[in-house]
Amino acid sequence: MYLHGTSKINAAGHLEIGGCDVKDLAAEFGTPLYIVDEALVRQRAREYVEAFRASGLKFQVAYASKAFCVMAMCAIAEQEDMSLDVVSEGELYTALQAGFPAQRIHFHGNNKTPDEINMALDAGIGCFVVDNFVELHLLNALAADKGMKVNVLLRITPGVEAHTHDYISTGQQDSKFGFDLGNGAAYEALKQAKELANLNVLGVHSHIGSQIFEVEGFRMAVDKVSAFAVQIRNELDMTFQVINLGGGFGIRYTSEDSPLPVAEYVKAITDAIISHFTEAEYPLPEIWVEPGRSIVGDAGTTLYTVGTSKEIPGVRKYVAVDGGMTDNPRPALYQSKYEAVLANRANEPLEETVSVAGKCCESGDMLIWDLDLPKVQTGDLLAVFCTGAYNYAMASNYNRIRKPAVVFVKDGEADLAVKRESLDDIVGNDVLPARLRKASSAQ
Ligand SMILES: *Cc1c(COP(=O)(O)O)cnc(C)c1O
Repeated sequence: MYLHGTSKINAAGHLEIGGCDVKDLAAEFGTPLYIVDEALVRQRAREYVEAFRASGLKFQVAYASKAFCVMAMCAIAEQEDMSLDVVSEGELYTALQAGFPAQRIHFHGNNKTPDEINMALDAGIGCFVVDNFVELHLLNALAADKGMKVNVLLRITPGVEAHTHDYISTGQQDSKFGFDLGNGAAYEALKQAKELANLNVLGVHSHIGSQIFEVEGFRMAVDKVSAFAVQIRNELDMTFQVINLGGGFGIRYTSEDSPLPVAEYVKAITDAIISHFTEAEYPLPEIWVEPGRSIVGDAGTTLYTVGTSKEIPGVRKYVAVDGGMTDNPRPALYQSKYEAVLANRANEPLEETVSVAGKCCESGDMLIWDLDLPKVQTGDLLAVFCTGAYNYAMASNYNRIRKPAVVFVKDGEADLAVKRESLDDIVGNDVLPARLRKASSAQ
């Protein structure tokens, strides 16, 4: 069994995270429950910040909040000297409500609405990452209306394909994101941006994919971006002050995954930047990166209560938990794999192989296939590891299932960061039109 961060098995044979016995957490907060190991989140953030400090380059480590965007997480990102990426008014609002400094917020997305752009302009965010020509001119016009000049990076698609799952790659040419480098769109975008009086072009952005385990893709992206920077300097007389290399740094979900230490990704990027820009006698740019998954992914654990089971002799045994694709859609969306333990009997021998099903009316609602566990009983607690990224963030109310609570644990203390949804929350936005009300209650 692989235990992340502060997780361990205590003397009672229970899983303990951040000094908290998960059986106590289940009793206090109920299940399903997302548990965040705060010390591990902070450790991951520091690994990035320290690796960049060692490079001597100017930098920003922007937490890609889409991985897990709640106010408590924004507050931790700020304390750990990170910047923050947002991709919608909802994420922006969350960050601002948490008191995150607007100048350290970067706004992403391939279809920012005029309302969203205006909200971000009014908040005074630090940078817009412009995705396409429509946005380029819209942003300039909206900034002009407010008499503002705003910092922008242009998102380019460098044509680097990182080794990853197809559904989550964005660096290849056929992508909905960004200005293509190969077909001249990126060049044209910079040429136009230079003439737009209300935009201040800081540089370019590239994001080559997700769950990447090698440095090669990042090196190739730096090669392309550096050559492009030199071309733009020579032909358009523009100098990039910032190069943003995106996120996508891989984490260990299961024994099949072999991520590199954070410092190795950072060193590969900063070494390549220093060598290319020095060689071109180009002032060293500031480097920005945008880790999401690798900040919060392995710090998250989802705790479930086992309910029913169904054994099909000679085929398999299904064990159902009190959550599923509503709190973790990744297995259904991407065939993602997870590891788990029986959290209340974690030191007992593994005696049977089961497949863990969710409770939704959907055959695809499976969390883990073929998991070895002690003999499972109704009422046992199952802890699924590495659910910190793209789980709560992607949770839904399918089947009108309530979204779980989130607790942050640290040094034996557990603090609620998001309340479990109530049944009233479930109907909170419903309106029953008068003509549909029952006569008896219409009066
Ligand atoms: C999703 C995304 C990230 C974060 O990706 P991770 O795999 O979570 O590190 C960073 N930048 C951009 C532009 C993204 O779309």
